[in-house]
Amino acid sequence: MDNLKDLLPDPLNLIGGRWIPAASAREMEVRSPVDGAVFAAIADSGPEDVDAAVRAARAAFDGGDWSKLTAAERGRLMLKLSARIADEAEALARLETRDNGKPLKQARADMLVTARYFEFYGGAADKVHGEVIPFLTGYNVEMHREPHGVTGHIIPWNYPAQMFARSLAPALAMGNATVLKPAEDACLTALRIAELAREVGFPDGAINVVTGRGEVAGKALSEHPGVDFLSFTGSPEVGVMIQVAAAKNFIGCTLELGGKSPQIVFADADLEAAYPVIVNAIIQNGGQTCSAGSRILIERPIYDQVMAELARRFGEIVCSDSSDENAVLGPLISARQKQRVERYIEEADAPLVARGTIAGNAPEGGYYVPAALFGPCDPTSRIAQEEVFGPVLCAIPFDDEAEAIRIANDTEYGLVTGLWTRDGSRQQRVSKAMRCGQVFINGYGAGGGVELPFGGVRKSGHGREKGFEALHEFSRIKTIVNNHG
Ligand code: NAD
Repeated sequence: MDNLKDLLPDPLNLIGGRWIPAASAREMEVRSPVDGAVFAAIADSGPEDVDAAVRAARAAFDGGDWSKLTAAERGRLMLKLSARIADEAEALARLETRDNGKPLKQARADMLVTARYFEFYGGAADKVHGEVIPFLTGYNVEMHREPHGVTGHIIPWNYPAQMFARSLAPALAMGNATVLKPAEDACLTALRIAELAREVGFPDGAINVVTGRGEVAGKALSEHPGVDFLSFTGSPEVGVMIQVAAAKNFIGCTLELGGKSPQIVFADADLEAAYPVIVNAIIQNGGQTCSAGSRILIERPIYDQVMAELARRFGEIVCSDSSDENAVLGPLISARQKQRVERYIEEADAPLVARGTIAGNAPEGGYYVPAALFGPCDPTSRIAQEEVFGPVLCAIPFDDEAEAIRIANDTEYGLVTGLWTRDGSRQQRVSKAMRCGQVFINGYGAGGGVELPFGGVRKSGHGREKGFEALHEFSRIKTIVNNHG
């Protein structure tokens, strides 16, 4: 990892095209989850830094070089950035692994998706058109789709590079000028990609990045009167604060707040196809994925058979140093998150069916938590209702389709559902009955799918990211009515 040093960003913010320290000159230590050691620092920014970033974005949007680019020119810049990310993918993946603790394989996959976001939205930038609406005789009515202006983005630590791209790419494609507050627990790849954006020629102020603590820098961004739209991904608790802040400034927001997503396995399912997907959906990224498949609902006649096989597979999962080529489960993000997940495991009111292990050579001081499989779980119990955000799967038996639907929908969340059945009619019926934003039939997509609109209902949040829907979120309609006689 020696070459990592060249890639480590200085503890600076990107404001108006320049890398500058926090006005207070304060910094925060960055620890690696792999061994708990401090290995970098970021700026510990305050409201004055956020204010400078918002002003820089405003200048870029209101007459600055960014505002003068055509949609096609914006798209080309984004394609250039996509290519730069792809060129630097291996180094970025290693940085992500060090900073976030995710296995190298996962980090490599993340960088491909990150590049893909800028490719997809770069290609889309000049393909979002307005409409002409038939109206009264003598009138011409046009519907224009305009950027909001300055968009504020607050992202979490679980996929720092992907979230940077997922949130910023559609906003930039529509012509907004952006201010991003990445998470204090992991944000180094986001800073590096911001630098790549500068190098490929994004005009000053189009992308501003301010690091720091959520309750200081994040709060200041969410409450800033110069922000025209907010995009937030993180916990429901902070999501509520963001929504209140948006309401006070009379602006819109999208919230992506996690879930307790079920996979429903009917007795006619292709189980051999389902097993690896079910395990991966909760092990991927240490279960620290908003769309993690954290509940498994199993039709009673196959419950024992499915659990026996899942127990075998969970028992074989080894937590290890994320930089090992074959690591599938690394450490969790922080000591705090480790404690939180361990508490859920200790206090679970259900039989523990299987537990993974920690590799003997896993670095001391890392935040390792072996995978855990619980079942049968009472669907109303804490472990079956609350988002653990760790490698913890809870199994619930069901007797028929109606009961499966009821249990699947019976949490405060509603993000993704996985459905395993060969019965085509059942696939349709159950998909339509699910109260969530995405349904996968005979598969499961935690993450990925840049083209696929994604978002939740209720405590999972609202608004849609990814796909063309994100372009609609990051723009608004203006109707121009012309009485030409
Ligand atoms: P969080 O919501 O506190 O942090 C997410 C982002 O919001 C970070 O950038 C943080 O700095 C910022 N933030 C924090 N407080 C803020 C405030 N008052 N105003 C504005 N911004 C603020 O999440 P966390 O504490 O890192 O994780 C806690 C739990 O949230 C996790 O255990 C998990 O259940 C959930 N979570 C969900 C997702 C997701 O992808 N949906 C991501 C991260 C965490």
